[in-house]
Amino acid sequence: MIDPFGRKISYLRVSVTDRCDFRCKYCMSENMTFLPKKDVLSLEELEKISAAFIRKGVRKIRITGGEPLVRKGIMELFRNLGLYIRSGELDELTLTTNGSQLEKYAGELFEAGVRRLNVSLDTRDPYRFQDITRWGNFEKVMTGIRTAKAAGLKIKINTVALKGFNDHEFNDLVRWVGDEGMDITFIETMPMGTIDGHRSDQYLPLSDVKQQLAENWTLTPSAYRTGGPSDYFDVAETGGRIGFITPLTHNFCESCNRVRLTCTGILYMCLGQEDSANLKNVLRGENGAAALDAAIDEAIGRKPKGHDFVVDRQNDDRPAVPRHMSVTGG
Ligand code: SAM
Ligand code: SF4
Repeated sequence: MIDPFGRKISYLRVSVTDRCDFRCKYCMSENMTFLPKKDVLSLEELEKISAAFIRKGVRKIRITGGEPLVRKGIMELFRNLGLYIRSGELDELTLTTNGSQLEKYAGELFEAGVRRLNVSLDTRDPYRFQDITRWGNFEKVMTGIRTAKAAGLKIKINTVALKGFNDHEFNDLVRWVGDEGMDITFIETMPMGTIDGHRSDQYLPLSDVKQQLAENWTLTPSAYRTGGPSDYFDVAETGGRIGFITPLTHNFCESCNRVRLTCTGILYMCLGQEDSANLKNVLRGENGAAALDAAIDEAIGRKPKGHDFVVDRQNDDRPAVPRHMSVTGG
């Protein structure tokens, strides 16, 4: 699949639920209205759409959400998609998780064929963790991380850089991940959906974070690539890597290789734009697989050049898109 800007689309992100057992302050408001269960695709339907993308050349699938591991029966989807790893039709099956259910599922994820995963963690201070996630349990996440490592899963920590919240902890996080043999990626907060409070109060450009880290660590640009938007740096002192995802300070759209499917079967061709394709209707209509392949081709032909994220009080902190990150999946 090649889009109108010559970019090869080989990466599908699938949000399997918009629900979550946390309420991270930059991601959700405290009182969220979730989708009625009847609107959500069955796991079998999500698998059928994923299979169509694999037929069309997708080599990497990331399962995300909401919190993917709170969806009932989710291991069935992992097991079934894992078969495509075994047959060589997929290079990678991975997930992004808040870690709360990893103790329970790490072994099964490894068995299904998952080898790497991202765990989101914005602080190592249990009190701050409670504050930012509202409902999270820090010790449970730490146990989850330990269990996943013991199961043989390689972990990358995702940290949203938040002004006045975790900006004094970045060096500690880099030291910790280095000691634990994990990598870390810092992310700029993106204007997606309405939250309680102002995003411009939280927004911290990663150029500032990089500068702060460079005072303490020897960072050299790394050749490492995961097919994602991260710019990686090797850390001489720890032997680990730091990634920076900078949707606001540096637009990474030129090399975008991905599209995103929601749990209701809506395909978003860009995280930061509204245009979409309704694959649920196509899947449930006549001509199943053939119609799905044609609808995917048509949607890829509409993939936009990029997003226009801005975090600015002058625009009254209006989100670039009304949907929360938990709908499209981070
Ligand atoms: N619940 C899982 C988790 O937290 O890892 C997966 C879904 S979550 C939406 C995926 C990633 O998006 C997380 O790393 C989270 O920190 C990040 N995220 C959520 N809202 C964001 C926002 N407005 N700007 C930047 N990153 C955000
Ligand atoms: Fe849930 Fe992940 Fe959003 Fe936090 S960032 S509320 S864990 S979906």
